[in-house]
Amino acid sequence: MSCHNVGRALNNVVREVMNLYDAGDISKDAAKRLALRCCRSVAWCDGSEGEAIDYISACVCGRCFKLIPKGEPIYSTWQVSSAVPNQYEIKDENGDELPTDGLCEECFDIVLDHHCGEKGAGKRERDIQKKFEDCVSTGEYKDDNNGCRWVD
Ligand SMILES: [Zn+2]
Repeated sequence: MSCHNVGRALNNVVREVMNLYDAGDISKDAAKRLALRCCRSVAWCDGSEGEAIDYISACVCGRCFKLIPKGEPIYSTWQVSSAVPNQYEIKDENGDELPTDGLCEECFDIVLDHHCGEKGAGKRERDIQKKFEDCVSTGEYKDDNNGCRWVD
């Protein structure tokens, strides 16, 4: 059985990372690296990467790290069609891992076009994902920690 507490603990760290980033105390690259490290750190226990980034996954673009306004689309690099080669190895155009799979429209097109080596690949995948109901940003950070209240 997986451990949800490690995900909640690291999600709490991600919340502080975003506090620091939003205050201008750390750079975007530092914030992305820390969020990605929190995802990877669940492996020290039997945790879920998704729980470690629950705070931001429904509203922050994993590439530009901007808050996506409520109701605007958020596209998933994990939900691409089988037309995308090596679909589980999608990284940003610099080869860096993305801390979340959700991207804004502009970043999704950059990442998918580069990954597929084909201009228009991102738009094609966006058109497919627009049919998904969960393809919309909440516009705000989660106010709970994976279903539990924040404890600090
Ligand atoms: Zn973006």
